[in-house]
Amino acid sequence: MTTDYAIEAASLEKIYRSRFRGREIKAVSNLTLRVPAGVKFGLLGANGAGKTTFVKMLLAAVNATSGSAALFGRDSRDPEARRPVGYLPENHRFPTYLTGFSMLDFYAALSGLESRERKRRIPELLDLVGLHGWSDVRIKKYSKGMLQRLGLAQALIHRPKLLILDEPTDGVDPVGRRHIREVLNGLMGTGVTIFINSHLLGEVESFCDYVAILKKGELALEGKIALLLAKRGYRVVTSTVPERVLDEIRSEGASVEPVDRGFEISVVSRDEANSTIDKIRAAGGFIESVSASTNSLEDVFIRTTEPEMAA
Ligand code: ATP
Repeated sequence: MTTDYAIEAASLEKIYRSRFRGREIKAVSNLTLRVPAGVKFGLLGANGAGKTTFVKMLLAAVNATSGSAALFGRDSRDPEARRPVGYLPENHRFPTYLTGFSMLDFYAALSGLESRERKRRIPELLDLVGLHGWSDVRIKKYSKGMLQRLGLAQALIHRPKLLILDEPTDGVDPVGRRHIREVLNGLMGTGVTIFINSHLLGEVESFCDYVAILKKGELALEGKIALLLAKRGYRVVTSTVPERVLDEIRSEGASVEPVDRGFEISVVSRDEANSTIDKIRAAGGFIESVSASTNSLEDVFIRTTEPEMAA
């Protein structure tokens, strides 16, 4: 079966039932989400929002209470559907007595790679993630950043079509983060779909094309990042402008706020910005600065998840 979507989740829901006192936790609610093949998709959410549970349902590591999930058009409970997936779990624990090489060899064998192919592929991958020279060192000597890079190599070993990374750079220093990003950027153009769970907004903003935000298990927002971050408007800062001109600008719908050396005028469109500037200049006023104001993903996230904080 062919499909344009790497991931299709339909009304997925997960209720965990605690054995003690029968308490129920609704981790994911009625989640419908489609991830087009070939894109870089970020799933954001606060701690406990349900990101890991969602991914585990996609991979059939956790049974959904209801709903369904498909990978490249195939029900994800079918092991064949999961064959083209590379997965880096959150808080993974690889056996520390293994060396980098033997760990990758183990996972490559699980993925069905022949011995000859493994011997060729593993050094290539260790090189790609910057761990050449560490091949024969036991994992217990690896730093957190090195472990994440080894985990990434493990996820890539069988050349997946879909890479699912759960908090790939959590606890990794800035140099290690950049390294991981460069490895992922290097995959662009190969057609691989990358799905990242994260609470690092800047990282998702700079790397992903699409984002979805989970709030308490529910899909709160979804879209193309470029559209979500589209310009919000323009700010004109002016000094020495007559009060009647400010009144006129206000009456046309602009917001006028006093700032240090005059007033900051916020308008929505470029035309409004130009007409505001014309009015100020015609009245002998002085323009201090003009700037376009943009959304950051942090603005979007806070407005979506904590609207009272954004107000
Ligand atoms: P984080 O960013 O902290 O990893 P998350 O967004 O990945 O969080 P989940 O780990 O999916 O969120 O957890 C969602 C909710 O489900 C939380 O309230 C969590 O405590 C609960 N939960 C997760 N796993 C289980 C489990 N095995 N049994 C009971 N409750 C669970």
